[in-house]
Amino acid sequence: MNDAICIVGGGQAGLSIASKLRKLGDQRPITIISSELYPPYQRPPLSKKYLLGDTKKERLFFRPLDWYQGNNVSLKLGATVKSINRENKTVQLETGEIFAYQKLALTTGSNALKLPKKLGGLLPGVYSIKTLNDVDNIKHEFMAGKTMLVIGGGYIGLEAAATANKLGLNVVLVEKENRILNRVAAAATADYFRNLHLSKGVQILESTSLVNLIEKGGRLAGARLSSGETISVDFVVCGIGIRPNDDLAEKAELKVSNGINVNEYCQTSDKDIVAAGDCASFLYKDKLIRLESVQNAIDQGEIAAETIFGNKVSYQPYPWFWSDQFETKLQIAGLNIGFNHTLVRKGRRPGGQSVWYYRDQSLIAVDAMNDGSTYLVVSRLLKMQTNVTPEQADNINFDLKSLLK
Ligand SMILES: Cc1cc2nc3c(=O)[nH]c(=O)nc-3n(C[C@H](O)[C@H](O)[C@H](O)COP(=O)(O)OP(=O)(O)OC[C@H]3O[C@@H](n4cnc5c(N)ncnc54)[C@H](O)[C@@H]3O)c2cc1C
Repeated sequence: MNDAICIVGGGQAGLSIASKLRKLGDQRPITIISSELYPPYQRPPLSKKYLLGDTKKERLFFRPLDWYQGNNVSLKLGATVKSINRENKTVQLETGEIFAYQKLALTTGSNALKLPKKLGGLLPGVYSIKTLNDVDNIKHEFMAGKTMLVIGGGYIGLEAAATANKLGLNVVLVEKENRILNRVAAAATADYFRNLHLSKGVQILESTSLVNLIEKGGRLAGARLSSGETISVDFVVCGIGIRPNDDLAEKAELKVSNGINVNEYCQTSDKDIVAAGDCASFLYKDKLIRLESVQNAIDQGEIAAETIFGNKVSYQPYPWFWSDQFETKLQIAGLNIGFNHTLVRKGRRPGGQSVWYYRDQSLIAVDAMNDGSTYLVVSRLLKMQTNVTPEQADNINFDLKSLLK
């Protein structure tokens, strides 16, 4: 009988499943199939220390190659699965090679949205930051004195802007919405990061979109903006969002809507197929959501492994996320979905502060900027489901730790 476990996608979630299965004592052979040429690696440093040149490539890999050999986990790299045959329980690669499975895990992640061709998206000098290859291909552009245009004021665009500024580039960031971080954070957090970037000399143009890129002699030369301005540009980093890789699941007629639908056990609409990480959508407070974060990929991966192993452990999201920009470390605890008011609390350290998200009287999330101690207490309180009232949070003399007791 075939007892193989097949994991499609060799990112954070895929590795989390394989590691957890081995921790649980599952002895079945595991194969991780990944389109990328590298064994599973961390993505967060790609827009931070790796791009800056402060982290070596070897440091990005989660496990040494002998971990895979020693744990009977085969890596099939540079291999893309093009179809799933649920009846025969097989997956087929683009090369035609077929792998049989007893249990299948889809951890196909997400891909970066590309700038449309009509705006100049296919010109040389237009990049995304999603994979290790992307960053290796872009690094030669990060030379002092060059001008980089960032399209999109989300975390990845802002991190790339901070890194480029540190390396001595001129940076212009355009955001079509009326403020940066519009989709993911409150105005107070956006204000903090706008001020930080402006103070370092990054130009941030909000309510401004790209009309088109301008080519000269087959190369990128400039950008026309919705403000009517035309600027000279050496290269472009596009940070306009991601979309989940759910096409494979959709073709296999699994339930899909903005990601592969999973229940609290990370099971898809097929009981022998689980999904986890960026590609998986799940119900959270009656809303179908996806989380694009390391913590979610790890936690969902572990739950998916429990399910494959035959346990029933349900997923409780306790999300946290971080971003490093200049000397600021942002740490986010909780999920701000559905907040209706915020307040700002000063931190104990100079320059530290936190933004508290409330739904009525209930605390749902906190963004802590250079305020690790607040982050630590609040993330524990949120896990314990202990509320901090807006009055308590607003009172700098109120000892948050007293609520831990
Ligand atoms: C630049 C950058 C910075 C980030 N910074 C942070 C941060 O500071 N904090 C944080 O919490 N999160 C951060 N994230 C997000 C975080 O890295 C992701 O949420 C996490 O990596 C998701 O893991 P995953 O395993 O779901 O997907 P991925 O890491 O995207 O892995 C999916 C893998 O599946 C492969 N694949 C897809 N389809 C197929 C197929 N058909 N066949 C074979 N292989 C396939 C892909 O090539 C890819 O290798 C960042 C992401 C990026 C890109």
